[in-house]
Amino acid sequence: MRPLAELFSKLIDKIRGIDYLDEQVLTEITRELQRSLLKADVPLDLIKSFTDRAVQRMKEERPPPGIPLKDYVIYIIYDELVRLLGGEAEVNVGIPKRPYVIMLLGVEGSGKTTTAAKIALFYLKRGVKPGLIETDTIRPAAYDQLRQLAEKIGVPFYGEREGRDAVEIAKRGLASLKNVDLVIVDTAGRHRNEQALLEEVRAIYEAVKPDEVMLVVDATVGRQAAAQAEAFMKYVPVHSVAITKMDSTARGGGALAAVAKTGARVKFIGVGEGVDELELFNARKFVARVLG
Ligand code: GDP
Repeated sequence: MRPLAELFSKLIDKIRGIDYLDEQVLTEITRELQRSLLKADVPLDLIKSFTDRAVQRMKEERPPPGIPLKDYVIYIIYDELVRLLGGEAEVNVGIPKRPYVIMLLGVEGSGKTTTAAKIALFYLKRGVKPGLIETDTIRPAAYDQLRQLAEKIGVPFYGEREGRDAVEIAKRGLASLKNVDLVIVDTAGRHRNEQALLEEVRAIYEAVKPDEVMLVVDATVGRQAAAQAEAFMKYVPVHSVAITKMDSTARGGGALAAVAKTGARVKFIGVGEGVDELELFNARKFVARVLG
């Protein structure tokens, strides 16, 4: 999370130096705020509505007795950022039925396969028995990668090394994974072309009828995250999002904001290559780290 915090450090320093708010100070804060959000790749329309709302509050609201003005200004920015990222409500990771099926989507390299194993471990630690299915027939290494990760964390795995038909693999996988509470289906991230990928994803979706479709987005792609989400959403519903590689970029704010804009809730964030480096997304905690 460090890179994002660095983006906002100039803004925070500026605010810490103020003793009063007049038009000139407000303009300086607005500019610095916009600059930080722009560098974090937050879409322009969101930056505009965000800063308008924050500045309006700075003009209208007065800090409660005993709270210094500068702290209150930071609080307003903090509060508005939390709102931008989906509000205070806790992410729901309950398993409403057994087996509960989560299907993962995402372009190649987004971190899907790693995230599949991370999510399995996350639930395993909470006493839920997960199983993993690999349906990627395009990238042969995906099969070995997920099988090895499944062995490492000790959960059942289904895949077909020489398999050609992703839909059939998914169906056989579901039939073979008995006595699990949660099935996580990994899908291909590349195909002959984008349309072939999206059609395969839809065919798996229709065959598997997952309870939840989770889009995996690489934070380092910044603003492109929204375009990826929109492309997938033309073919299947997207219920939740996992944003990976939050440890290695300052652009994650863009991915978060852009994806949140599509209406899907961010559930998990990946914060490293290790299989245990997954965190539940919490807007308050996230923003607190960003603002330092
Ligand atoms: P897939 O093609 O979408 O299945 O992507 P992979 O799961 O193979 O991941 C692609 C690369 O990203 C691998 O080198 C992973 O170790 C790395 N990766 C995945 N998640 C994270 C993360 O949260 N942080 C970091 N730093 N690397 C990650």
